[in-house]
Amino acid sequence: MVTIYDKKFDTYLSEETILKRVKELSVAINKDYEGKRPLFIAILNGSFMFAADLFKQLSIEAELCFIKLASYDGMKSTGKVVTSIGLEEDIFGKDIIIVEDIVDTGRTLHNFLPKLQHQQPKSLKIATLLHKPEATEFPLELDYVGFEIPKKFVVGYGLDYDGLGRNLKEIYQLV
Ligand code: 5GP
Repeated sequence: MVTIYDKKFDTYLSEETILKRVKELSVAINKDYEGKRPLFIAILNGSFMFAADLFKQLSIEAELCFIKLASYDGMKSTGKVVTSIGLEEDIFGKDIIIVEDIVDTGRTLHNFLPKLQHQQPKSLKIATLLHKPEATEFPLELDYVGFEIPKKFVVGYGLDYDGLGRNLKEIYQLV
């Protein structure tokens, strides 16, 4: 159990469970992208830890860049999509894998994907550590999903509650 500001959170996914699953995703990506050189586009801030652990396990040639898109205000999605760190890489003709921490309503990626598609990548896939299927408002095809979780607020392993909790090694769920 951890307390962040006024809220209590229970352990939900242990470090061991997360890392085991991240490794499984890397194994699948190694297989699917053999002989290719994908560009991973990780969405800040929440995905930094997932992106690092996923990337470490790759045996294929791969590139990685980070962009910043969404603003998440407190405990519910604001719907605002803000690009504060842009995409400098040229993605034309490249195999792209978006790396997200969590897909909740799907709004963030729904708004962002057309911008990427416009630049004509060779392929475009999505890897997300967490997915809340019950929260879906904008359906997306998710190619690599770490864990499907209930529609409850989570923190840790890169995910925050008003700026705190990102450093936690485990993922915690609001009590
Ligand atoms: P969506 O646009 O799919 O509704 O939400 C995606 C973004 O909302 C994520 O990248 C994340 O920043 C934030 N988010 C959604 N659910 C949670 C949650 O349970 N905990 C935290 N910390 N952030 C969340």
